[in-house]
Amino acid sequence: MSSKSVILQCEAVTVEFDGFKAVQGMHLALERGELRFLIGPNGAGKTTILDVICGKVKPSSGKVLFSGGVDITRKKEHQIAELGIGRKFQTPSIFPSLTVFENLEIAMKQNRGVFATLRARMQSEDEDRIHRQLVMIGLEDKAQWRAGGLSHGEKQWLEIGMMLLQEPEILLLDEPVAGMTDKETDKTGELLHEIARQQSIVVVEHDMEFVRNFASKVTVMHEGKLLKEGTMDEVQGDDRVAEVYLGKKRRDVDVSRSTA
Ligand code: ADP
Ligand code: MG
Repeated sequence: MSSKSVILQCEAVTVEFDGFKAVQGMHLALERGELRFLIGPNGAGKTTILDVICGKVKPSSGKVLFSGGVDITRKKEHQIAELGIGRKFQTPSIFPSLTVFENLEIAMKQNRGVFATLRARMQSEDEDRIHRQLVMIGLEDKAQWRAGGLSHGEKQWLEIGMMLLQEPEILLLDEPVAGMTDKETDKTGELLHEIARQQSIVVVEHDMEFVRNFASKVTVMHEGKLLKEGTMDEVQGDDRVAEVYLGKKRRDVDVSRSTA
């Protein structure tokens, strides 16, 4: 890795599915504490690149380097998770019949060895941590609710809280605001900014208004490749990006209105 502050680097990553290149020579460098938005039309390869980073899919060529240059390209999913890369999928994987508090408790304990779990002394400290997490995700008043009774947005926050208790250095989120109300969407944007004070995040997003409101740096993918990287203004002012989103050449087109 060239810079000390780079926490994740994808170098010329290519992924093939039966000869079809879903990702082609993709580059991505994420800095520590960065909140990066990854956008692009359907089928651009966004989910696939997240799959590569978390080890679910193996690239046919290229490399993924984590913190300090550790090559994670060939590591197994659980090893990558243990190194500190957490992945949230589009469907929440919470335990609906357990309470919000219990869900967080389970997530926290998954992170521990037997030794730590057995130390009863830790109990009140653990409760404090869960409480702080509840406040952060805005569910402190619903700690005793059954998770299945939460709104769609609240379930997503719970799952983010569960991920955070496992203390990842990088969080990978795939369309976290899909299906959320406007209010929930805004709250999620604020939550992501708060998380980025400690951790690094890659968020795949479809909702352009959300991206415009909350993104500082945006990476645009198209047909498996890096199309453009920059601020939202730079991305919006790019002819190729406009073309990809609207299927035609036009200057100063407002991609913020497009949802693809
Ligand atoms: P995005 O998340 O940007 O919409 P994806 O990464 O899901 O795009 O998909 C990129 C391309 O790879 C699409 O054309 C998709 O159909 C294809 N693809 C994704 N996963 C598989 C798979 N397991 N097998 C075959 N093709 C796949
Ligand atoms: Mg996708």
